Amino acid sequence: MDLHSLHTHTAGELRRGDIGTTVTLTGWVWRRRDHGGLIFVDLRDRAGVTQLTFDPEHSGGVAFHAAETIRTEWPILVTGTVRERPEDTANPKLPTGEVEVLVSSIEVLNHSKTPPFPIEDDLDTAEDVRLRYRYLDIRRPLMMHNLKVRNDFTFAIRQALHAGEFMEVETPILFKSTPEGARDFIVPSRTQPGHFYALPQSPQLLKQLLMVSGVERYYQVAKCFRDEDLRADRQPEFTQVDVEMSFVDQDDVMEEMEQVLSAAFAAVGVELPSPLRRIPFWEAMDTYGSDKPDTRYGMLLHDVTDVFKGSKFKVFSGAANKDGQVVKCLNAKGAGKWPRAQIDKLEDVAKTFGAKGLAWIAFREDGSVNSPIVKFFSDEEMAAVKAAAEVEPGDLVMFAAGPRRSSDEILGGMRVHMANALDVPREGHDFLWVVDFPMFKYDEESKRYGAEHHPFTQPVVEDLDRIESDPLSVGSYTYDFVMDGFEAGGGGMRIHNADLQMRVLRRLGFDEERAKAQFGFLMEALAFGAPPMGGFALGLDRVCMLLCGSDSIRDVMAFPKTSSGSDLMSAAPSEVSPRQLKEVSLRVM
Ligand code: ASP
Repeated sequence: MDLHSLHTHTAGELRRGDIGTTVTLTGWVWRRRDHGGLIFVDLRDRAGVTQLTFDPEHSGGVAFHAAETIRTEWPILVTGTVRERPEDTANPKLPTGEVEVLVSSIEVLNHSKTPPFPIEDDLDTAEDVRLRYRYLDIRRPLMMHNLKVRNDFTFAIRQALHAGEFMEVETPILFKSTPEGARDFIVPSRTQPGHFYALPQSPQLLKQLLMVSGVERYYQVAKCFRDEDLRADRQPEFTQVDVEMSFVDQDDVMEEMEQVLSAAFAAVGVELPSPLRRIPFWEAMDTYGSDKPDTRYGMLLHDVTDVFKGSKFKVFSGAANKDGQVVKCLNAKGAGKWPRAQIDKLEDVAKTFGAKGLAWIAFREDGSVNSPIVKFFSDEEMAAVKAAAEVEPGDLVMFAAGPRRSSDEILGGMRVHMANALDVPREGHDFLWVVDFPMFKYDEESKRYGAEHHPFTQPVVEDLDRIESDPLSVGSYTYDFVMDGFEAGGGGMRIHNADLQMRVLRRLGFDEERAKAQFGFLMEALAFGAPPMGGFALGLDRVCMLLCGSDSIRDVMAFPKTSSGSDLMSAAPSEVSPRQLKEVSLRVM
């Protein structure tokens, strides 16, 4: 395609076949070298780098003299002839490395202050400084590459959805507070003092309403807003590829999504296995201690409950004899060689996953055993643990005892921690579905039931009569898309019956009045012939982060916020004028 531009070629495309042609390039002065009367400049644009040569003997030396004054990061336009680089100066690592442009004229398009950090991929500049000057940070080829991967993936997924007859419909950003589990961002209304919009946590309810409308297959590359404490893979605003379908069952949605995802991943050179593996929620929890397991490595959880039923070690026998409680262990191979002080520190790590303490056995390489608990073990118990965890010298076995889910979660957290600490190899990408999540979870602190996914999820039909009597045993039609140990997406079938929706909300602690105030519009709509429906949302930022091999979603967002929610470039959030506050009837306390 003929692109309109000041240049004839990008800085990434000249090759041997272009030798002899006259070209015009634009870009930034990246590196500049004075060499025995010649000046070399690496010219960089978003497509790549081309070497420019300025020769005092060429074209009366005008371009050469101009080149003596140019500095790093000035944008320039040059015209010259493509020629072969002398053989010993060719750069095989660079796609344009066999050629250079002998410049006959140069136009300086602007000057630049010296950047606060080098525009280089390998740099140890603090991220705060990079975020303060994000526009310069994005000049680095690595960041430009990340944005390109994101663009290619998003475009491919849009194409696949369009080909699947999904219709993109935009939904409002100023909406109503409809909690999906996180805190809302709220926006005061000027025209209705004391009233607030909320920014959507996702387009969940709106997409369900579009199904009631008959849109049948919807998607949107949608911004979502959640006022949560931030972590490396969380941001207050993030992007989902949001999908909803009607007149479908769970398998239809999952199979359709597999097709779409496999086309999108293929566009960035990643193969998605088909059909995608499905692991039921409880199997994932019991085996990996996580509902988003990374299955590229082992270090599985072993159930040793039966071993300790008669144990003298009360912490274990106590749990082993209680209904719903377990004793489990995990073998971190290699960590048994760690010094005692390093092993002791693992207790603090376990506490971050909810443990009260950490019981462990270090099997030393000389055959000895180091452990604060084995003195309570019988020979049979010790032998059974060794057999279950396939112990060899150099192994560290860690335990959790207590309620099934929290024990799984503690060891699941330790599994990931130890894999990182021991640098366990994880090659390629790992994709799977986790299915069959429970409908409800119980929060010990608030003594309330919450929705495992969200309150609009369809409970398993056969379990409906236990919503009131035994909520934790109620299943749901849900699925999470897991990539490399991260929840990269998720979805489920939805309640399409107003009475059932009210019943579930009641179970979640809503009285009729509050349910109507918050979700009345949804239940009203469901009563007008809502079709069976289900959908999915892909966490675009997280997927792109994994595709780019990065460990922070900030690296795949053009203008992300810091962990305290600030934009360092514009200094948002910032104060507003008293007049602005008055207009929205607010006073800052
Ligand atoms: N709205 C859900 C979420 O953000 C995804 C879905 O159920 O489609 O997690």
